Amino acid sequence: MRVYLDHAATTPVLEPILKKMLPYFGERFGNASSLHFLGEEAKEALEDARKTIAKYINSEPDEIYFTSGGTESDNIAIIGSSKMSERRHIVTSKIEHEAVIETAKYMQEQNYRVDFISVEENGIINTKELEKKLNEDTLIVSVMLANNEIGTIQPLKEMTKIAKRYGAIVHTDAVQAVGKMKIDVKELGIDMLSASAHKFYGPKGIGFLYIKKSTPVTNIIFGGGHERGMRSGTENVSGAVGMAAAIEFCYEHFCELEEKYKRWRDMILNACNNIEGFKLNGDPDKRVVNTLSLSFSGVNGEALAELLSMNEIAVSTASACSSHSSEKIVSHVLRAINLPQEYAEGTIRVVTGADNTDEQIEYFIEHLKKAVAQLRKMGGTA
Ligand code: PLP
Repeated sequence: MRVYLDHAATTPVLEPILKKMLPYFGERFGNASSLHFLGEEAKEALEDARKTIAKYINSEPDEIYFTSGGTESDNIAIIGSSKMSERRHIVTSKIEHEAVIETAKYMQEQNYRVDFISVEENGIINTKELEKKLNEDTLIVSVMLANNEIGTIQPLKEMTKIAKRYGAIVHTDAVQAVGKMKIDVKELGIDMLSASAHKFYGPKGIGFLYIKKSTPVTNIIFGGGHERGMRSGTENVSGAVGMAAAIEFCYEHFCELEEKYKRWRDMILNACNNIEGFKLNGDPDKRVVNTLSLSFSGVNGEALAELLSMNEIAVSTASACSSHSSEKIVSHVLRAINLPQEYAEGTIRVVTGADNTDEQIEYFIEHLKKAVAQLRKMGGTA
């Protein structure tokens, strides 16, 4: 039995979503910028996709800009806003995805001051800590909505209120949140939000950036002026159609998906709680329901993932322990939550998805229990 439990890395494009995309590779292949009938057809599909996406995050359609994915959206938000302001200070967190961390480091090289704020041991930012870092020079606060390794959800609405007192722009990387939790950009009060279709059953290579009207941000890619100048390059029409179908799928089936994810989460946690030396990482409640970061002391996470893979179960090692100059490197997220080394090294990330079944979860649990016991017998590694 093949069991895919790595839906935070990417998701399959589900059959009904693929079906909606296919005509845009074939008879409706037009360039959305062309003035003839094929172009018009493509343009219409693109604008319909924009409307659909806007509806599910409660924005206006012209506040949605299509990009190539989460990384590009994050880059536009941070670099693009820096080009429109005299302010020289950026605030982000220690547990961001590399798409934000590396962009922030690039901004440091451009002589911006960057504060990477800490999280508590439950993976949540202390808003008092955030406030201490803010000042009248703060250009942007970029904090993720849901974490890609441990699944924790940040108190974004509260953070936005604080940041707004200092006139800062608020951006959130919602790549791991879209489709898994309800999102209302107006309610959150944020200025920008990044998303990526391949994390919610859409295709790879397409994402979007929500930009609230009148937010001072400009393009970082130059060319033909597509996407109202914000992101030049021929529009990925099939991708946009797929992304819209995917967001629609997630929110139209939200309750039934959530119920399944909760059931599988409880099945997995009940089994793990019976294993000695087990720890669930991140806040037990403030988290997306399908994402579990599981640590087992005295076990090597990579060996565990490999053993599971030999049984056709795909999970990832969130700890990403790698032998680098004989020094063990633990993921920056696990370091930020101060997870003891013996647990950090024995961590796997399990992320369920719409394509899983009860049988698959039972199969996973059975093999997980066996693999942990086997590795411990062998001293941790196979
Ligand atoms: N942000 C987060 C939180 C992610 O998990 C990822 C991908 O893993 C990205 C950004 C990058 O997204 P993309 O692969 O679409 O560039």
